[in-house]
Amino acid sequence: MRKKRCPHCRITKSIDMFYRNRNTADGRSVWCGQCKRIESYNRRRKDPEMAKIIHRRSAYKHRDKRRAYSREYRKVNHDELIAYTAEYRRTHPEEIAIRNAAQYNANIEQRREYRKLYRALKPEIGRANDRKRRARARGVKECFGSKESAFVRAHWNNECAICGKTRDEEGRTLAIDHWYPLSKGYALTIKNAVLMCHSCNARKGDQYPISRFDYQTINRIEQALDMQNSAWEKMQLCSLLTN
Ligand SMILES: [Zn+2]
Ligand SMILES: [Zn+2]
Repeated sequence: MRKKRCPHCRITKSIDMFYRNRNTADGRSVWCGQCKRIESYNRRRKDPEMAKIIHRRSAYKHRDKRRAYSREYRKVNHDELIAYTAEYRRTHPEEIAIRNAAQYNANIEQRREYRKLYRALKPEIGRANDRKRRARARGVKECFGSKESAFVRAHWNNECAICGKTRDEEGRTLAIDHWYPLSKGYALTIKNAVLMCHSCNARKGDQYPISRFDYQTINRIEQALDMQNSAWEKMQLCSLLTN
């Protein structure tokens, strides 16, 4: 086995103990690996700012190699990494809460802007999220998304279930709401979703239909709800069969 003497610690060591270096005659660094490590540790400690710059520069220079390496590493150690993350989350709940809060507070303006834009582009999803939040606050589990909303709007022909208008007096569009009220614990489902204008919805409030509307209206709407439900179920079945 080839040996070499390190001029710094003055110990003769096996050649494997010296880092590879293409710029030297024997292809190995002059100092031994241990001396090099101590030297670089001291240099980092003496000038941490400079060390950071050097590290960043080198990371940038070798970014493709680093990325490929970490991609490969994640692929090979996939299960261990997932287990490690889960374990970390379980044992460090406070650190995670602090980190999440910091991230949330750092981007609060940006998030607000983004939400505004998103709601403008996808009003139906925004309304669905509001409904979900209201239901959750009352302990009712609701699963009524934008697909369901679009179906209900089409079923009522984009007209108010009570008065038949397409907009209220102030030009506001119609909203999907519970026929049997959320306040009494009824979730929004295809069986319980009606399209109403703001004034009819306000008139109904959070009351049972029976305490606000006449029998004919209730009958008509509940028949339409039955039809809505069977049409929805039929559609679900069809998509199941075609997929
Ligand atoms: Zn040495
Ligand atoms: Zn109305």
